[in-house]
Amino acid sequence: MEKAKEFYSQAKRALLTAYSDTGAAIRAINEVQLDYYLMKPWDPPKEKLFPIIDELLDDWKNHVIPTFKGIRIIGLQYSPKSHELKDFLRGNLIPYQWVDFESNPEAREMMATFNIDEKDLPVVITSDGNPMIDPSIRDVATEIGLQPDAQEEVYDVIIIGAGPAGLAAAVYGASKGLNTLLIEKRAPGGQAGTSSRIENYLGFPNGLSGEELTRRAITQAKRFGAEFLSPQEVVSIEVNDGYKIIHLRDETMVKAKCIVITTGVVYRKLDVKGVSDFTGAGVYYGAAMTEAAECSNKEVYISGGENSAGQAAMYVANYAKHVTILIRRDSLTSSMSQYLIDQIDKTPNITVASHSEVVEAQGDTHLERLHLKDTQTGEIREVVAHALFVFIGARPYTGWLESTILKTDRGFIETGKELMLNPEFKRVWHEKREAALLETCSPGIFAAGDVRACAMNRVASAVGEGAMSIKMIHEYLAEN
Ligand SMILES: Cc1cc2nc3c(=O)[nH]c(=O)nc-3n(C[C@H](O)[C@H](O)[C@H](O)COP(=O)(O)OP(=O)(O)OC[C@H]3O[C@@H](n4cnc5c(N)ncnc54)[C@H](O)[C@@H]3O)c2cc1C
Repeated sequence: MEKAKEFYSQAKRALLTAYSDTGAAIRAINEVQLDYYLMKPWDPPKEKLFPIIDELLDDWKNHVIPTFKGIRIIGLQYSPKSHELKDFLRGNLIPYQWVDFESNPEAREMMATFNIDEKDLPVVITSDGNPMIDPSIRDVATEIGLQPDAQEEVYDVIIIGAGPAGLAAAVYGASKGLNTLLIEKRAPGGQAGTSSRIENYLGFPNGLSGEELTRRAITQAKRFGAEFLSPQEVVSIEVNDGYKIIHLRDETMVKAKCIVITTGVVYRKLDVKGVSDFTGAGVYYGAAMTEAAECSNKEVYISGGENSAGQAAMYVANYAKHVTILIRRDSLTSSMSQYLIDQIDKTPNITVASHSEVVEAQGDTHLERLHLKDTQTGEIREVVAHALFVFIGARPYTGWLESTILKTDRGFIETGKELMLNPEFKRVWHEKREAALLETCSPGIFAAGDVRACAMNRVASAVGEGAMSIKMIHEYLAEN
């Protein structure tokens, strides 16, 4: 498998092993990132083998780029707009072919066919062969069949944000017969959707990609009847006569009896000289999955020492010449899981640079060099860098939320017990009962997942809280 991986890095890997030899499976999971292991015997194959092969093929098909069918994007590698389009399609699990204007001769041929000029880029060529010149995300969303408008006026529950917490709330809400609407501003899956491999989610001993988890969850939510609105951003909430009115970015609104806020967190911006000039042009926040393939033979830097940074390093190392993880601390041990540290140690083209931080980004039209500071000696060195992926800290997506919802100083939403300790609580809470575990200071508005103060920042805990919020909503609806 190690040999095959050198030649076919994207091929799915499955191992047939004896019950007594799970050690072989564990080694294969760690060393070749096994996608599945089957226990001997695989009889009857209809039950034990074929469904697994089907699933692996489905997942593979999701990533493989058809050469002559489907959506194509012609653009410039270091154009933020091109990056935004790629990231949007990838996040929404839509396969596309990237045709780089500078390095792919096919780009000019296609542009001549459609009479497109370089200044018109990026251009999306639809699967029917129609060119969309510099399209907006909303236009592309309509083209791929997403639904940006709600079908009904009032819902039992509206869930804001389709990360793991929101997806779980949608699955449980819809399956319990609630009229459920899930609203997402970018792409389903949230942070987890950008993970190349989640290895600690219960029931998936060989890990699963964030894309696969998202694909399964969104299908499950829709199957139970949840409505999914995307891309659509919630900009404010108003409470009127117990009804919650949700205002959307496009100035439309929709009403709900209850709300679950599952807007999660977003990476902090790296606030050093030059970085903002190259965002989307060599500097990327998260987005390692979208740009990894363009990093082949390049020098890549990753800023951050948590699991998300480690996963990104492992993924990008499949393509890049070299990956350097920049951390301020001594080592990764206090911030990253041991299984990832072990994988990184065994990957020859990844280096961990401790006591290091980016102090400046330089380049012409895109990132070319970084200035790195040794935080112990203060010494600054210049390195060639074709890409920098930033995975530092996280701030909650709550800037849009009215000040009437109590939050911590850092902007995380307070719920339940912690909320009741807030001196402001008594002033705003007028119910006879206590606030439920996941309830905010506004009755009937709940928060779950990473956006909540004291959250665990894990896929499993976000999923658990999303599911729990629906139980609390049932109790709230029964009382009101
Ligand atoms: C790269 C990476 C790898 C990770 N790996 C692991 C792992 O291996 N194991 C693990 O347990 N955890 C992992 N995590 C952490 C885990 O992904 C998060 O804890 C989890 O995704 C939190 O889920 P959530 O639903 O609370 O929020 P999020 O995943 O942050 O989702 C929030 C969603 O809300 C949307 N949103 C925000 N504001 C609005 C608005 N106003 N209107 C509409 N939509 C909005 C966002 O676009 C987003 O899709 C990883 C995180 C990252 C970034």
